[in-house]
Amino acid sequence: MTRKFFVGGNFKLNPASLAASTSLIEGLNKAELDPETEVVIAPPSIYLIPVKESVRKDVKVAAQNCYFKESGAFTGEISPKQLVDAGIPYVVLGHSERRTLFHETSALVATKTRAAIDAGLKVILCIGETLQEREADKTAEVCQSQLKEVVDVLKEADWSNIVIAYEPVWAIGTGKVATTAQAQQAHADVRSYIAKAVSPAVANDIQILYGGSVTAANSKELARQQDVDGFLVGGASLKPEFADIINARK
Ligand code: PEP
Repeated sequence: MTRKFFVGGNFKLNPASLAASTSLIEGLNKAELDPETEVVIAPPSIYLIPVKESVRKDVKVAAQNCYFKESGAFTGEISPKQLVDAGIPYVVLGHSERRTLFHETSALVATKTRAAIDAGLKVILCIGETLQEREADKTAEVCQSQLKEVVDVLKEADWSNIVIAYEPVWAIGTGKVATTAQAQQAHADVRSYIAKAVSPAVANDIQILYGGSVTAANSKELARQQDVDGFLVGGASLKPEFADIINARK
């Protein structure tokens, strides 16, 4: 398997002050991290630049969202071009909290993904089913329909700048992690959809992360699954155990 292990930390709307953000980054800077893991952290937008300037150089920085326009009358938004100009290489798009709390549709997520890729960003694209959808045996269908919107707008674009994060909504922030079998099955289904809808080569190369209540304790077994290429970590990315998750394949 040649895909590089990738761990993202989604800080969400945390921590609550610049001082706390600085001390979180100081902790990460001192940690021993597996050099074989690609590490990307996503602080709130107000801390993007200070974090980028203070974090160790082997850890990259991501915005948690962006808009699809370059500039203009879009109060409260940040453009992909502004992120690139500020030296921020990644953006997280389609997180379930954006979809649920801020009513972002898969079509909007796809438009943002295209704009971000065109501007030169790398995208961590989040997909995943609700509990109701899982119980109705619709996990693969839901993931495919979320991905299809992106496939339709990306067409010939360079998929090497996309990382997919499979994050079952019922597992995010709930303490209920997917079983290794559930995660592996969902990842394999996503990969086989990408093989059909884009190409077998893209499917083979694309990193598919698992997200949803990942901890140091459950990360090692999940990391051993064939199609689990890393994690997108929320709550635990604010704790020292984030380093253990980064080192899950060590
Ligand atoms: C997330 O926010 O992407 C996430 C997976 O959160 P948590 O790890 O807290 O479940």
